[in-house]
Amino acid sequence: MSDLSFQSADATLNDGKTLRITEMFYSLQGETRTVGLPTVFVRLTGCPLRCVYCDTEYAFSGGEIFSLDQVVDQVAGWKPSYVTVTGGEPLAQPNCLPLLSRLCDAGYEVSLETGGAMSLEGVDERVVTILDLKTPDSGEVARNDYANIPLLKPQDQVKFVICGRADYEWMRFKLEEYQLVGRVDEILLSPSHGQLSGRELAQWILDDHLPVRLQLQLHKILWDDEPGH
Ligand code: SF4
Repeated sequence: MSDLSFQSADATLNDGKTLRITEMFYSLQGETRTVGLPTVFVRLTGCPLRCVYCDTEYAFSGGEIFSLDQVVDQVAGWKPSYVTVTGGEPLAQPNCLPLLSRLCDAGYEVSLETGGAMSLEGVDERVVTILDLKTPDSGEVARNDYANIPLLKPQDQVKFVICGRADYEWMRFKLEEYQLVGRVDEILLSPSHGQLSGRELAQWILDDHLPVRLQLQLHKILWDDEPGH
């Protein structure tokens, strides 16, 4: 399904702007509002956080240098409708911002998955941002930059990975505190893999009539979380 054989960065770096990239691949979107839709993923290398449940530690270091032109060209080869820029933490690389704009200019529906610690300032208005608010049990709650909340656009989505009941209660408090329902398009709740069952989280959502979307990470169900999907 995916293709990890991306071209190495030995060509001339035409525009002088480069990115360190862990992988680019074509697969099905595993989460968010476009779950199940064929999507190209651009995974940028590096992340300043260390969430206890992180499933992309292989993106913390390494990667290869690509010019923006090379990334845009490679994405175009898959002829996608949807492109997701993810990480690691994509906004940790300043050239993520021009990449997002270049992908929007090419006509794709572009989404950005970000961990909530980096500023959303400068993100192209056309991008759908999926902002992950880190819960207490992630180990990184202190890194949330709440100055991002006023920068959220109507098409954006806010995601919480829920590790247990305490995280769930914290999430409900944040929904109220920042009036998140109605401010953004979707509130997404994911159970932390191996810590909380989807069924238990589903029951809590139903009991409280929460206007949120439960998501179960399709890529883990289909491909058991192998890199490249
Ligand atoms: S922000 Fe994402 S990539 Fe970074 S440590 Fe947390 S889960 Fe992993």
